[in-house]
This record gives sequence, structure tokens and C-alpha cells, in this order.
Amino acid sequence: MTSPTAPQASWLDDIPARLADIERAHLLRRRRVVEPAGGARLRVDGQPMLAFCSNDYLGLASHPALAQAACEATQRFGVGSGGSPLVSGHSAANDALEHDLATYVQLPRALYFYAGYATNTGIIPALVGDGDALFSDALNHACLIDGARLSRATIHRYPHADLAALEAQLAASPARRKLVISDAVFSMDGDLIDIPALLALCERYDALLLLDDAHGFGVLGPQGRGSLAQAGRTGPDASRRVLYMATLGKAAGVAGAFVAGDAALIEWLLQKTRTYIFATAAPPLLASALRQSLHLMKAADDRRAHLDGLIAQLRQGLATLPAPLGWHLLPSRTPVQALIIGSNEAALAVMEGLRAQGLWVPAIRPPTVPAGTARLRIALSAAHTTDDVAQLIEALHALATQSLSH
Ligand SMILES: *Cc1c(COP(=O)(O)O)cnc(C)c1O
Repeated sequence: MTSPTAPQASWLDDIPARLADIERAHLLRRRRVVEPAGGARLRVDGQPMLAFCSNDYLGLASHPALAQAACEATQRFGVGSGGSPLVSGHSAANDALEHDLATYVQLPRALYFYAGYATNTGIIPALVGDGDALFSDALNHACLIDGARLSRATIHRYPHADLAALEAQLAASPARRKLVISDAVFSMDGDLIDIPALLALCERYDALLLLDDAHGFGVLGPQGRGSLAQAGRTGPDASRRVLYMATLGKAAGVAGAFVAGDAALIEWLLQKTRTYIFATAAPPLLASALRQSLHLMKAADDRRAHLDGLIAQLRQGLATLPAPLGWHLLPSRTPVQALIIGSNEAALAVMEGLRAQGLWVPAIRPPTVPAGTARLRIALSAAHTTDDVAQLIEALHALATQSLSH
């Protein structure tokens, strides 16, 4: 018999050793305390840094008009929404935002959520369940994957962007309800899926497409209306087979997300999405800032043109990195530019080398990306100047030369 005073062995005792395992694999993550310091500059743990890691692609997050809209709304409506949207939390500001969002993306109706993660983990189980079939790109964002798992539908994972493999899976599926889920712009690679081809498959096989445009909304398409608009499949040419989802904490510069599409489908989601029904609605101050942001985004062709110029400048500058290292940019015409380094350790070393020069570019390692493809995820923003990008190019060339001579 164990004495009542002996400490009882517990699985909780293993946690420190398990943390040490993560550290040994160079996978321990550490948060930095960040404050804005003007433009693309941040004060990071007190040190000024030029940052290439923000998803604030248009540089709107610190726009004074957004701050002013949030302040005025706070004074008028207070801070909290006070309830879930189906009880008392659906403010006039949130309601107006949904109309503005639907108009902006040229789809019949939109539903506004407090976070993109909660949107995908909630709407997928609302659409499909046991006995239904899901088709998921291998590089989809974690919240699409988690939503798929929560749904209990049968998951068919197809190789990244392999639409022939997807078609074979769709053709072979006996399920009556089929849902295809895909990032539009892949968040760690920056490439854009072939939306017309994907939608054509969905039409042929009576499937619904959930398209996550977190990184294309505000950036791609006419007036930044997103990748679906760029593909010409909004407005009168909208398909009822697509649910367009995008986040509002990236190019829109605030927080939250929305899903837009056919009015009956959106009504279904409103009735059935647990992450929507059982969570407090986003506060009206955010919706007010977002309405202002949509105005600015629509008129931000100058910012988008500047951003396109920076993307071209970066790609040209990094095309001449010394070949033997194997560092290479993945094909991407979006602000997400992935420089593949290879091992976790090497990617961390490059990140540290840049940090020593006041440049902050995050190393992305497994499990976020496949093993052996640790990378720097360079995020460009209209807040960067051409001098900022030139500085990054120069620093990477210097680190490459240094690492070749070791
Ligand atoms: C950021 C992101 C999300 C999550 O959105 P949040 O609003 O940050 O929760 C969903 N999908 C993709 C592709 C993303 O990049």
C-alpha cells in the first residue's frame, strides 16, 4: 500500500521532459512582445526591427481612420457586444458590416464571425457529417483540417493542387453530400489555386466548394475583392456551389472573418454553426472599424500596385542567391513569399542572422509545413518601402555567402 503522504505519480510529471524534447528538436516556439514603431517597423522585446512577418498586407492595421472609427463606436456602443448573435449580440454595426461585406465581394449574403479559425471549424461540421464526403488539399490551413475532423465526414486528402487526383476521388465517391475545402492562396507557400478549374469540378460532381481566401481578400482581384472576383466568379457569374470565406485580421487590418455565398446556404450556416451560435458576438467597435477598412480597401489600388512592385523586386533580388545552398523561393505572385531553406536548424540560423541585423522574418518549421521544408516566410506589405526590401535582399545574400564559406 502506498502511504497517503507519498506523492502520487502522474502523467503531468512528464511535461517538463516532453518540453525538453521539443526544444532539442529545435521546435520550441517563443512569443515576442511587440509594439508598432511606424510603417513596417516594430519594437520587438524592446528592440526596433524591420518586420517581414505581418499579414497586414495593405498596411491598414495602423490607419488612423480605423482607429477613429473604433473610438467613436466605443463611445457610442460601449466595448462588449454582451451576447451571442442569436440572442442579443447582433449589433446594428455587425448587421451593417454583413451587408457591406456581401456587396464588396459581390455575393448574395455574408455572415460575420469573430475569428477565421472559428469560422472554418464551425461551418464545415454544419455542412457535412457522418456518411458525407470531404475533399481536402494536403496543404490546407489547420482550421480547415480541424473543421473536417470535427465534422465526422469521410475525409479524402488529395496532393497539393492536384486536381486530377481530386477528380478521381470525386468520381469514385458514392456520398450524396460532397464538400471540397481549399485555401485560395496557400498560407505557407503563397501560391494560388486554379479557382475556375476547381469550381468546374464541383459543378460536374455536385459538390460544394469552401474557398478560404484569408490571404487573397483585399489583395487580389478588382478593388481587392478577392481571388473569387479575380477568377470572375462573383456578381452575376456567382455560383451557388461556392462558399467564399475570408479573414478580416489580415489585409483588412482588424480581426474576425466572414463567409459569403448563396442566401439559403448562409441562412443554414446561421442556424447550424455551433461556433457562431454558442459564442459571444464580436464587439461593434470592430465592425465599425471594419466598415471603414472596406472603404479604404476598395480605394487602395495605389497600395496594391506598390505591393506588386515589392513582390517583383524581392523575387528578382533573390533569384541570384548562390545555387549550391539550395535556398529557393516557391512560385508565388502574392505577398506570401516562402524561401525554402531545408532543415529546422538551418532555417533558425538564417532567421537569427537576419535578426542580428534588425530584420524580423519568421522561420516556419514542421508541423506547420512538411518535414525538410523549413523556410523563411517573408510577408510583404504595402507598408514596406523599396529600401526595406532592398535591405532584406542584401542581408540574405550576405548570409548565403557566409554559409557557403562555412
Ligand atoms: C489566418 C488564417 C485563418 C484563421 O483566421 P483567424 O481570423 O486568424 O482565426 C484561416 N485560414 C487561413 C488560410 C489563414 O491564413
